[in-house]
Amino acid sequence: MADILYTFEGKVYVNLTNACPCRCKFCIRNNGDSVGEASTLWFSAHMPSFEEVRAAVDAWDFSGYDKEVVFCGYGEPTCAYDTLLQTAAYLKEKGMRLRLNTNGLSDLINKKPTVDELCRYIDTFSVSLNAPTAEKYNALCAPAFGEASFDAMLRFAEACKKNGADVRFSVVDVISEEDIAACKSLANDMGIPLRVRTYTE
Ligand code: SF4
Repeated sequence: MADILYTFEGKVYVNLTNACPCRCKFCIRNNGDSVGEASTLWFSAHMPSFEEVRAAVDAWDFSGYDKEVVFCGYGEPTCAYDTLLQTAAYLKEKGMRLRLNTNGLSDLINKKPTVDELCRYIDTFSVSLNAPTAEKYNALCAPAFGEASFDAMLRFAEACKKNGADVRFSVVDVISEEDIAACKSLANDMGIPLRVRTYTE
């Protein structure tokens, strides 16, 4: 079984699934089996049930780590939607702040509006903007939902913001300076801060 909980730069991260509808060219999963102090983040047999995640949380000593726990891992957390909600509720009961690192395609993945439910528990959403246009987004991320994906991601971020959540966009610096500037302009127009992440091999 892969690590369900792992640490990276002083925070505890949660790895719920290896599923993802995208194939981003810069995906960290292309470069190795783990991040931070994790041994492997690939699940060999099955994705963890909520009971398995809860057992991992119960066995973990959170003392000495940041109070913000991050849902990230080697897949898109909203692909494990029910487990994500159950785990978020459980961690919230324990007084944690929660951040979700997401591709923002949850509504398409789960075939229903999901922001209201997610905002019950998630304090901060880091949404992968990745590109300034649908065409460039599709070329970089190859989303399984095709043309609808870019707009769905933007609407997801917008709805999270409307719900009062702390929302940030991110791009990875594998795109051109010109595209980063266009992403900044788009994010600015939506009133959402943009973080430019450095690509690491
Ligand atoms: S959305 Fe995230 S997990 Fe999925 S392919 Fe892109 S970088 Fe990788």
